[in-house]
Amino acid sequence: MINDKLLNWFDQNKRDLPWRHYRDPYRVWVSEIMLQQTQVKTVVPYFQRWMKRYPTLKTLKNANYEDVLKMWEGLGYYSRCKNIYKTSQLINCSLPNNYQDLIKLPGIGDYTAKTILSIAFELPYVGIDTNLERVGYRILGLKSKTKRNHKRVVKFLEANQDKNRPGDYNEALMDLGSSICSSQTTYCTECPLSKDCRAYVSLSPTSYPKSGISKKVPEYNVAVSLIKHKNKFLITRRSNTKFLSGLWEFPGGKIEKSETARQAIIREVKEETNLNIFNPTYLGNVKHKYSHFGVNISLFISSPESIKKLNIKQEHKWINLKSIDKYPLPKANHKMLDILQKFY
Ligand code: SF4
Repeated sequence: MINDKLLNWFDQNKRDLPWRHYRDPYRVWVSEIMLQQTQVKTVVPYFQRWMKRYPTLKTLKNANYEDVLKMWEGLGYYSRCKNIYKTSQLINCSLPNNYQDLIKLPGIGDYTAKTILSIAFELPYVGIDTNLERVGYRILGLKSKTKRNHKRVVKFLEANQDKNRPGDYNEALMDLGSSICSSQTTYCTECPLSKDCRAYVSLSPTSYPKSGISKKVPEYNVAVSLIKHKNKFLITRRSNTKFLSGLWEFPGGKIEKSETARQAIIREVKEETNLNIFNPTYLGNVKHKYSHFGVNISLFISSPESIKKLNIKQEHKWINLKSIDKYPLPKANHKMLDILQKFY
């Protein structure tokens, strides 16, 4: 069962969001509708303004639709506003606390109904959106997005639902999926579920589930290491390359089919720098798409025993992280720095 570990992590790391300050079905419902297709940071000020103006279902019910629409202005997908207002006119004093009635209301689909039931009514449902689905695919180590695998993910996440804290379980998975297990970047060493996660064992978690990159566009598995020596990191400059020429990067390269990510980074660093690194520590994964290919990067950190053997053909520097902004880096390297900043 993953629920205990997940909830312990949530107790320490939960996001402070205004709709979480206290759980009231009306607030949970409004926030969930606002969050459909919209990022959390965009929703926060809208939600706060809305709650000042319409703090209860009754105030919304008695409002004029033009005024309500004005409050929504700029948030987009205006049918959501219409549906909230319509629903307020259809129900009496509170949202229904059962799936059958909730799902009949305008703008409330399967995901929203289950999320409201778990968070607002503490019922053992799990609202599974793309974030939660991705976490499930990774824990179970499922690569192909098929109906059968989706059902396995749903069954797994539902079976692990916490009977005493269903709303927290749902929110914990939401926070995990959006903060440390996102589609492009993973911070596996900070993850409470790393011991349960098959994708983590692969050291290439962002390749789970397979991305929608078209078959014509190849995706390469790459290993990269931050090489640390006396609190400085080694960067090298790409030269005489058609691609990203002149930009700085951390050493690394493609993982061969016969290698693990760890074996690949030891080999690549030796080939590129002549340094021997032992037991590189895995930090996380980064996924990035360029126009004609994609990369799936397993990121490590390592310290060479000695740098006397250093031998690099390209221009290179040992820099401290504070000065990194002086050097133009490819975008994927910025994503790696985001991971590194969690540790420094
Ligand atoms: S260990 Fe990594 S891949 Fe697995 S759930 Fe945690 S963050 Fe995601």
